[in-house]
Amino acid sequence: MIIIKTPQEIEILREGGKRLATILRKVKDKVAPGLSTKDLDDYAFTLIKEMGDTPAFLNYRPAGTKALFPASLCVSVNDEVVHGIPSTKKILKAGDVVSIDLGLQHKELFTDMALTVPVGEVSPASAKLLEITEQALNVGISNAVAGNSTGDIGHAIESFVRTHKYGIVEVLAGHGVGKAIHEDPYVPNFGKKGKGIKLVPGMVIALEPMLNQGTKNVTLDPDGYTFRTADGKKSAHFEHTILITDNEPEILTKP
Ligand code: MG
Repeated sequence: MIIIKTPQEIEILREGGKRLATILRKVKDKVAPGLSTKDLDDYAFTLIKEMGDTPAFLNYRPAGTKALFPASLCVSVNDEVVHGIPSTKKILKAGDVVSIDLGLQHKELFTDMALTVPVGEVSPASAKLLEITEQALNVGISNAVAGNSTGDIGHAIESFVRTHKYGIVEVLAGHGVGKAIHEDPYVPNFGKKGKGIKLVPGMVIALEPMLNQGTKNVTLDPDGYTFRTADGKKSAHFEHTILITDNEPEILTKP
């Protein structure tokens, strides 16, 4: 069921999105060689608590998984696509790329955001992967207008990415968000024009293309959470929570 948000709910989501973007930017600025992925998670948790809010992913159990997610921040390094579990043993080094993905509950409502950050100096190929993935997100956002469909968003992203020969992860997708961290509709990063769910004002969705340097195929680690590229090449991930309006889409996860 797709939940259309009321003006009051949208105000809360706007504030929550602003807080989330502020926190994620601070975590991004902290990324440096020598830190563990758990250090980033601890920092995100501290910032969330300072704001009086709640980490949405901590103790979250997605459908089909046995264990609760043990952290506030998903931290996915290099060939890890998404849902990497922070660890004191995983130390960032120069040349890595690290996806940081955070869900925030402000009051009763949720927003979701991710970005991928270069650790120190990265290769031109890695920098390009990050740049194109962020652009793919922006292409998706610009197509998230009332009257379009979820298929139009996916089609636009897929058409844009095709010229760059990256693998688009197909088994994971964007999603509605707000009352819960994952709601309908399901918003794949590929698709056919006109297909899927029609977008209407008041819908809030998280768009999140995941692009791989090589194959689109991914594997799931025994931990039940960490998705990684099947060929070991790098992956990048950018995400915003946006509001469908009568005009241009509004990015809610901005500082
Ligand atoms: Mg998400």
